[in-house]
Parts: sequence; C-alpha cells; structure tokens
Amino acid sequence: MKHVPLQLRPYQRKNADEILACLERGVCGVLYVLPTAGGKTVVVVGGVIRTVVDHGWPTVFLVHRRELLQQSLRQLAAVGIDAAIVDPDHDPDPTALVHVCSIDTLKARKGRLADWLRTIRLVVVDEAHHTVAPGWQALLEAMPQAQRLGVTATPFRGDGKPLGDLFEVVVRGPSVAELTAAGFLCPAEVWSPYSPDLSGVKVSRGDFSAGDLDRVMNNDKITKLAINAYSARMPLEPAIAFCSSIDHARRVAELFSAAGYLSLSVDGDMDPTERDAAISGLAAGRIQVLTSCMIISEGTDIPVVAGAIFLRPTKSAQLYMQQSGRVLRINPGKKRACIIDLADNVKLHGMPEADRTWSLQHGLIPNQHRTVRCPECHRRFAPAPCCPGCRRTFQAPSVPTVVRSLDQLTDSAMRAWPTQELENMARTEADLKRIARVKDFAPGWLFHAKQRLSARLAKQYEMRRYA
Ligand SMILES: [Zn+2]
Repeated sequence: MKHVPLQLRPYQRKNADEILACLERGVCGVLYVLPTAGGKTVVVVGGVIRTVVDHGWPTVFLVHRRELLQQSLRQLAAVGIDAAIVDPDHDPDPTALVHVCSIDTLKARKGRLADWLRTIRLVVVDEAHHTVAPGWQALLEAMPQAQRLGVTATPFRGDGKPLGDLFEVVVRGPSVAELTAAGFLCPAEVWSPYSPDLSGVKVSRGDFSAGDLDRVMNNDKITKLAINAYSARMPLEPAIAFCSSIDHARRVAELFSAAGYLSLSVDGDMDPTERDAAISGLAAGRIQVLTSCMIISEGTDIPVVAGAIFLRPTKSAQLYMQQSGRVLRINPGKKRACIIDLADNVKLHGMPEADRTWSLQHGLIPNQHRTVRCPECHRRFAPAPCCPGCRRTFQAPSVPTVVRSLDQLTDSAMRAWPTQELENMARTEADLKRIARVKDFAPGWLFHAKQRLSARLAKQYEMRRYA
C-alpha cells in the first residue's frame, strides 16, 4: 500500500505501517493500543484511513458519543478526506467513501442499512474497550467483508476482564513512560494528602457503588483538604476535580469558589453549549477548577489542564487511566502534571506511567504496582530511596515494583526484604547461599533452609506428576 506523506511522529508512522501490514495480511481484527494523549487519531486518520481510502476501501469510523461525530469529521477533513455522517438525521451518502457513524444509529438501523453495511471493507472502532457492550457482535456481523481496527488506551473492560473475541492481533504503541521520556507527555507528580475509609462502601459490577461513595466523599472536610493541597501545590493552575456524584461536584465547586478560586461544575444535565463554554473557560483561563462527576473522563481534550484532583475512588483501572491521562498532555509552558489524590486511586492502581501487564485473553493483571507515600510531604511515588517532593531519605532501599525472583533484587534490597518471602522465591541452593550471605545468617539457617527447599521441590514435583 502507498502511504500519503503527513506529519506523523516517528512512532506514529511506525505504528500506522504495522497496522496497514496487518490489514494487508488479511487480519480480521487489529487492536491498536496507545496511551491517552499519544495521538491515536493522527495514526488512525492520517496514517491508516488516508491510505485505505486511496485504495478505494469503503470505510466506517464508529464513535460512541455524538460530540465526537463532528470532531472526527474535522480530523478527516484535515487530511483531505470528505467524509459523511450517519446519525439519527443522516443516512449514508452514496457518494462518500468514508462515513463517521454514531454506533447507536447503526445498531438501530442495521436491518435497513444491510446492503450498504455489506460493502464496508474497514470498520474503525474508537474507544474499543466498549466493544463488549451488548449489540456489538451483531453490528460487526452485519459487515461480513469488513476488517476491524479497534483503538484504545485501555485494552480491557472496566473491571479488568479481557476484551473478548473481536480482536486477534495487537499493535502496541509506546507506553506512558516511553512517551514521557521522549517528551510527548508530561511527567506526573502525585500528592496524597488523605486516605478515605472505604471499608463500608459496597462494590457492585466491579466498582464502588455510587451512593456509598457520595456518602463517604461528599464531605466538606475532605474538600477543604483538597483546596489546601491545590493552594499549596498548583495554585491558580487549571485543574479538573473528578467527583463522586453531581451533587458532590457542585458542592466542591462551591467551596473552591468560596476559597477565592474561579470554579464551576459541569454535568450531563447541563445544556451542551453551557457545558462547552465551561470547558473552554478552563482552556481560556476564565475557570481554574472545573468539577465533574463523569462527563470529562473520556475523550475530552484540554491540553492546558495541569492538574487532576481525585475525589472519586474507583476500582476501575480503565477509569483511573482515562482520568490521569487527561492531564498528561503536553502544552507550551507546562512542565509537569500535578495529581492530588484524595481517593487512594494511585495507591490502588499505581503511578500513571507504570507499565501494566495485560493480554487479550486474560485482561489486566490487577494490583501490580507498589507506591509509597512520604509521611512528611505526602508525595506518592514508586519505591525509591529518596522522596522526590521533599528529598527526605528513607531507610527502605529502592526496589522493583513487582518482585517474582531473587534476581530482581540487589543485595541491599534483599537485606530489607522479609526473609520468608525471600526463601519462598529461592529456587536453588545458590539462592539460599546468597540469602544467608546477604542476611549474615549462621550455617544452621542454611542447613534447615536447604531441607525446607528440598521438601518444597519434591512436593512440587509430585504435584506435577499427578496433575
Ligand atoms: Zn516528602
């Protein structure tokens, strides 16, 4: 396939070529994974759709929210593609090769549009983590000729479960850490001035129940701690506060306003023009702290936002990654993203830049990442010997965040590690000798530890034989 020249970053060009190679090979379902703010639309629109259109492929670009229809149309126009819209007011335009479609409209009209759907060669699914929702399978089956390209920053369901059977090959873009190191994302600093007591909060469908959360988090004392942290860490800088309910968002905006900041809450009940005005007010500096329950988690692109205030605890790694991803975008003059976490979300899910292990078959491996919180300044960070906030040093040595074998630990890290855990990781006599040397244990310990190891290995051998 011939590529149209366009200003893609080197990794975007490479990823677009990998996706095109999969499509050329006839792969039915390709999933492209790139962190929020990595520029997935540039890859998909400028790198992939531009090329397949040159080859005459009828293409459908599926979006799941109405606001994204016009936005996608503009992005396609920017690379010279005159696309048409399919929504409640528009049927497909027979003269157009590319259609931006509202998913709900297509689901509702797939019977009436069956002939047209059968001609589609490529279907691009934005925010592909939603493809497990009901109705997807049937919609994709209505396009039997179409190869699928799903795009997402979070390649698993909200509860961490796998995405299902719609994709067979994954194209992985750079990670958050790699994008940050290359200067394409801002480094994040996290402050945790408060840990909520979530012991009485019920969990339903994989996340904390909204009513219980509101009861715990919609609390003026917590909000005042948030205001103090904002004043101390990023005063007057544009920030988004993620709240537990609409009432909570309104109350937080009230208290920020009372403290002298320009603050407003947005929610789904608002008139869309009023809501857009509030969001653009944040970009223009008319608003300092925008508060919201769910509305600005996904798809809202405001690069100027320098901070996130977490007031909504979530068990969903997906929601956490979307919310933290909002603030990592680079913008002139912006040196870092500031996260003020009063929900313990970073404690539960790890730093925004932590690499997450997942697969199409098994979904996300939960709770992979340890962080520590400085008792002095409340900065939260991946384990390190020195607090990046106040430079206080700790006795605990720097350690990797996931430890499965002794090879991952330095001698000084081993010295501080619980002996029982080290012994459980030991696989050979040499491992035990190393523990004994580092911990300065007497020969008697080594003797008994060897016996315990032989017994453990013998038991594992037996279990494998009879498995
Ligand atoms: Zn500190």
